[in-house]
Amino acid sequence: MKTLIILEDNNGKIHRMGLESIVAAQKIASALKGSIQAVVIGQNADTLADEAASYKLDEVIKIKDPLLDNYSADGYAEAVKQVIDQENPDYVLFGHSYQVRDYAPKVSAKLMKPFLVDNVAVSIDNGKVVLTKQMFNAKLFSDIKTNGDSPFLISFQSAAFSSDAANKGSAVIKELNINIEASMIKTESEAPFKEQAGGIDLTAADLIVSVGRGIGKEENIPIAQDLATALGAELASSRPVVDAGWLPSAHQVGSSGQSVSPKMYLALGISGAIQHMVGMKGSKNIVAINKDPEAPIFEVADYGVVADVLELVPKLTEALQ
Ligand SMILES: Cc1cc2nc3c(=O)[nH]c(=O)nc-3n(C[C@H](O)[C@H](O)[C@H](O)COP(=O)(O)OP(=O)(O)OC[C@H]3O[C@@H](n4cnc5c(N)ncnc54)[C@H](O)[C@@H]3O)c2cc1C
Repeated sequence: MKTLIILEDNNGKIHRMGLESIVAAQKIASALKGSIQAVVIGQNADTLADEAASYKLDEVIKIKDPLLDNYSADGYAEAVKQVIDQENPDYVLFGHSYQVRDYAPKVSAKLMKPFLVDNVAVSIDNGKVVLTKQMFNAKLFSDIKTNGDSPFLISFQSAAFSSDAANKGSAVIKELNINIEASMIKTESEAPFKEQAGGIDLTAADLIVSVGRGIGKEENIPIAQDLATALGAELASSRPVVDAGWLPSAHQVGSSGQSVSPKMYLALGISGAIQHMVGMKGSKNIVAINKDPEAPIFEVADYGVVADVLELVPKLTEALQ
């Protein structure tokens, strides 16, 4: 049983969702006594392969070709299809990133295999991989058992696994030759979209102070900003704060904003709607301050304070200062 992970390049480092896929692959491989290969593509393939080789994988496959130096859906889909043809994996894992959403459906069409997308968990039942997917805005979960002819193309939702749980090891690196021609690439991509808030990457932040509608009005935003500054944290928000124009949209966390996984996520006056939680549930520690003891955010919080943010936060900032 062979699992192949397609790792994404995030400015010369493995994308966090790729590391999360390693956790899923290690879970599958340990339950089914299988092997794991990871694939890195493009102009940073050497650096990415070295980073990937420090994880407990069997093999890291480098794909280098001048036509793959810049991302294109046509080029990447063809490259991944050729790797699958050559290596014959049973399971092919992707992070459900914007890039994967762009090119993986083409791989699926080329192979005539379904793409099982946006899963939040994986388990094993009777030697078969079972994937869990959210339905109806995450009100229900459905299990999908893989059955039939491999390969199975599978993507995982951001923060489905904690990247810290990826086991370290040492893998062999090999380069694989593929055959890409310029005529195969019919689209050209623009420079990658950067998930940044005012020059700050929320996805890479260790500490986040996030502000919700409970802050009351735009004039109160500095209360949250002061706490963030005292902690050395980045400032994020829920959607109503952005919709009201109190903060730019790049600060928004959630299903239509960014997915973050800091060491600490401090939620101020955020109720904990599912569309917000999908973007921050991967945080290592969640601290919530909310004046409503029944607020759903307390169900996922590691620490909760029932208090008025307008009273508590200035005192907290003062104490930290
Ligand atoms: C398709 C779709 C996509 C969406 N995408 C996103 C998304 O990406 N991100 C996102 O965040 N939302 C998103 N939403 C909106 C989401 O459903 C919620 O409406 C939103 O997350 C609620 O934001 P909130 O918690 O700040 O506000 P509310 O739900 O209004 O909660 C405010 C909270 O503040 C508390 N509070 C009030 N005053 C105080 C005070 N003085 N001190 C302490 N606590 C106080 C209240 O008890 C309450 O719990 C989306 C919705 C849809 C339909």
